[in-house]
Amino acid sequence: MTNKSKFAAIIVCGGSGSRMNSLIPKQYITISGKMVVEHTIEKFVKIPSIGKIVIVIAKDNEKYIPNISGVEVVYGGATRQESVSNGIDAIEEEDFTHILIHDGVRPFISLPLIEEIINNLNNGEEAVIAGVKVIDTIKKAKKGNVELTVNRENLYSIQTPQGFKLSTIKELHEKYKGKNYSDDSLLFEEEGRRVKIIEGDRDNYKITTPEDLKNAKRDLMSKKCNILIGQGFDVHAFEEGNHVILCGIKIPYNRKLKGHSDADVAWHALTDAILGAIGEGDIGEHFSDKDNKWKGAASIQFLQHAYMLAEERGYKINNADITIICESPKLSQYKKEMKNFTAKALGVSDSKINIKATTTEKLGYLGRNEGIASQAIVSLALTE
Ligand code: MG
Repeated sequence: MTNKSKFAAIIVCGGSGSRMNSLIPKQYITISGKMVVEHTIEKFVKIPSIGKIVIVIAKDNEKYIPNISGVEVVYGGATRQESVSNGIDAIEEEDFTHILIHDGVRPFISLPLIEEIINNLNNGEEAVIAGVKVIDTIKKAKKGNVELTVNRENLYSIQTPQGFKLSTIKELHEKYKGKNYSDDSLLFEEEGRRVKIIEGDRDNYKITTPEDLKNAKRDLMSKKCNILIGQGFDVHAFEEGNHVILCGIKIPYNRKLKGHSDADVAWHALTDAILGAIGEGDIGEHFSDKDNKWKGAASIQFLQHAYMLAEERGYKINNADITIICESPKLSQYKKEMKNFTAKALGVSDSKINIKATTTEKLGYLGRNEGIASQAIVSLALTE
């Protein structure tokens, strides 16, 4: 690596707003506490050799921007090429030797891929792009009829970032001013200059369709942290009956818990804790007490459904701690069975579950023995 190389990044977020509509553009949608473009920018901030970040935005979208610190904001032009040009103009040749150009709606760019592009530029390449091999069979069709099947062997889907030597890309943008190339490396191709392609990353997708946005929400929400924590709380009142159900265990008692389902207050708290950890709302959103389907339902269904949502996101129970609060029935002799049954319901080992029972020293509604409350806290660990 030469000591002289200095890198800047341009994050392209749109032009003059010709496609403006009433919806928030995807790059400005907040997911997991930050806008998509902020997630993208965060990656470039983490690369020490990148000394400046410029974000190119449509002037109409200025209202979304004040929250982004540490980046220089430039307005885009009528075309993508003009927008990138405006970004390049904000990078001083005295201070930087190379630039990376990246789409604001690709927040899943990996640090190693950025580093690899930088390394290639350091090794003397003038233009480096990332691409992934086309997997699907590609056919050319006209008016609903297939004309031919394209040999996909040497075909790549091109991603960003694309990295360039600053002096050359400046010169080419000047030379091809007024044109509208969709991709900056095309300028190098027009000139017959070498463009190096390196293996991209399928996770580095561009958020384009509503489906992409749905996937991005899932990926940004839950794949950020190795550990997620959630807590749950629930109360059920007593009514006439002869047993209560706690953690799936039938406990003889002179009353029962009132509820739409089996009123397993402990598992409801645990279900809410799991839903909380993965940002999936609460038990009522998933299993409405207005829905007859859940009348008298066994709460294991709620618990297992919540845990399935966590597993779909790549998480497993790290540990769960449940506290059951009541004056009676006395629970000490059932705690072990409740622990075993909860572990079994989740398919985890007993050691990951803890059950505690306590009273409120005869204070308040629980002290007056009007019902049972439960609290649960859970930690989920990323397994992928
Ligand atoms: Mg409940």
